Amino acid sequence: MSFSSLEFPDYLLNAVADLKYEQPTAVQLQAIPEILAGKDVVAEAQTGTGKTAAFGLPITKLLNDLPDKKKKISILSLVVVPTRELAIQVATAYKAFAKHSPKKIKMISLIGGESIEDQIRGLRMGVDIVVATPGRLLEIIRRGEIRLVELNTLVLDEADKMLDLGFNDELLALLEKLPKGRQNLLFSATFPEKVLDLSEKFLTDPVRILIEKESLTVDSVEQRVIEVDTDKRRPLLQYFLKSEEWDQVMVFVASKKAARNLAQKLTRDGFESKALHGDLDQSERFEALKSFKSKKVKVLVATDIAARGIDVEKLSCVVNFDLPRSPLDYVHRIGRTGRAGEKGIALSFIDGEAAAHFKLIEKKSGIRLEREQIEGFEYTGEIPKRMKGAAPIKGKRKSKKDKLREQKALEDNQNQQDSE
Ligand code: AMP
Repeated sequence: MSFSSLEFPDYLLNAVADLKYEQPTAVQLQAIPEILAGKDVVAEAQTGTGKTAAFGLPITKLLNDLPDKKKKISILSLVVVPTRELAIQVATAYKAFAKHSPKKIKMISLIGGESIEDQIRGLRMGVDIVVATPGRLLEIIRRGEIRLVELNTLVLDEADKMLDLGFNDELLALLEKLPKGRQNLLFSATFPEKVLDLSEKFLTDPVRILIEKESLTVDSVEQRVIEVDTDKRRPLLQYFLKSEEWDQVMVFVASKKAARNLAQKLTRDGFESKALHGDLDQSERFEALKSFKSKKVKVLVATDIAARGIDVEKLSCVVNFDLPRSPLDYVHRIGRTGRAGEKGIALSFIDGEAAAHFKLIEKKSGIRLEREQIEGFEYTGEIPKRMKGAAPIKGKRKSKKDKLREQKALEDNQNQQDSE
């Protein structure tokens, strides 16, 4: 499934391409057509599922399709979120969604802790989308500084968190002030009684969307982060394969070539493995999956793209041999572990360069994990010896041997740039 199958206009496809989103996520696939059709939607989706784009992209289109506003100071779309941080994040995401849009879409965040006068001045200049926390929004409404009569869509994001933070009264007061006949969207990670009550109060005949828990919860997964030199990753993996009692392991790598190389080498060393990557034809893919599913092979070495959408039973372990590009891919990868009632294990191997990227993944996924080192595979930060031969000595022409060594070094280090 691609974004073009969602009938996005070019300006949205360009925005999505700039953001490097390759395929819509589950919540996007389900929510976007309903939102574009003007329905009210209630979705159970957590952070990390791509929920912001699930409402932000179609709303950007809806705003472009609307006739011009009657009054410049009217707002058209309102997103209410629990925290200042989320407001800033959502507003930034909207800017990216509207980057190529034919209509200039103006937005503002109304959050506590910043000058209310500046925010009011901003509103008076005319904005289309407001992203706000409930307290500050109500204060501005009370002062009569926001014109809501032309409001077209309301989004309540992370509704459960808003109620946990005690915003129930503010939300109810807000709902009373909004015009009828608008489109309403509610996103929440969980649906306790109080969220259900709220959704009944403000949604009309909503479409309900539930994103499969397993693809998004990571609570049942033990996540370990292991610092290891790049060229020690395979010996370390083999050490784990030998010493742990995992029955099936999915190892993620960054490129087709890496998948091929690693699966070959593991098999050579007695760990029956198959590679799953984009260069396989349908029957090879099928064969690889069949032997993994039937437990003929213990290890499947896969790229994110090849692994997307494949249906394997829950695994005991997932190894991030190479880190995924996005936090979302991280969640998808590790969400494959953890059988019913059992905790899954996800290992991420990081070296110096990957450490910064992993920090970003942690930040975006709201996690913080201890770093570990394994005895016998301690992280030294040394550049792999094989790579050292790769650079020619200045003034000296490369010998045939140098070239061969260089080629081998590149192959052995499983060129990470060779992506799908
Ligand atoms: P959210 O659940 O909205 O907080 O999004 C989590 C992360 O996923 C953000 O970093 C988004 O930029 C990213 N994201 C959203 N949609 C996609 C997609 N279709 N493909 C890849 N990444 C995405």
